[in-house]
Amino acid sequence: MSDEKYKQMLDRHKQEIEDFRNNCPHSVISDWIPFMWAPGHFSHHVKVCERCYKTIEESMPQPVIKAEVTSSYQTEHKWKENDKKEKDL
Ligand SMILES: [Zn+2]
Repeated sequence: MSDEKYKQMLDRHKQEIEDFRNNCPHSVISDWIPFMWAPGHFSHHVKVCERCYKTIEESMPQPVIKAEVTSSYQTEHKWKENDKKEKDL
C-alpha cells in the first residue's frame, strides 16, 4: 500500500467523520469526563456528544497544574543559575 493511498483513506475517513458530526444533532451529551491529551496525562474535563464524540464543552485547565508547571520551571531555572555560578568560580 503506497503512502498516497493511505493518505487518501485517512482524508476520506476524516471527511466522513466531519460530515457525520455536522449532521449530528448532539442530543445526547456525556457528563464531564477527563480529557487526556497524551496517555496518562489529564489536563481538563470535557463534555462530548455520545453519538459522534465531538467536544461540546470544555472546562478551563486546572489552575493547580499550571502552578506546578511554573514552580518546577522556576526551580530548574534557579538550579541552572547556581550551576553556572559554581562553574565561574
Ligand atoms: Zn454529536
